[in-house]
Amino acid sequence: FAADLTEADPQATALGYKADATKVDKKKFPKYAAGQNCGTCQLFAKAGAASAPCPIFGGKNVAAKGWCSAYAKKA
Ligand code: SF4
Repeated sequence: FAADLTEADPQATALGYKADATKVDKKKFPKYAAGQNCGTCQLFAKAGAASAPCPIFGGKNVAAKGWCSAYAKKA
């Protein structure tokens, strides 16, 4: 089983990852738009799951309700 990504992880901090997307620092990451979250990101590996591995963070689990600045909307 992959480990859960923590917000304190240096890479998570660098990319502004928050397990709750509404807590994203919008000043630091102005590209964040309300409604975006890991669950609708093309890098989220398990559609519909509460958490799934994200390749951006070496396969650590991220929360479906989370967000980071590598967000890319699923086509
Ligand atoms: Fe979430 Fe996408 Fe960032 Fe991965 S790349 S943490 S799935 S927003």
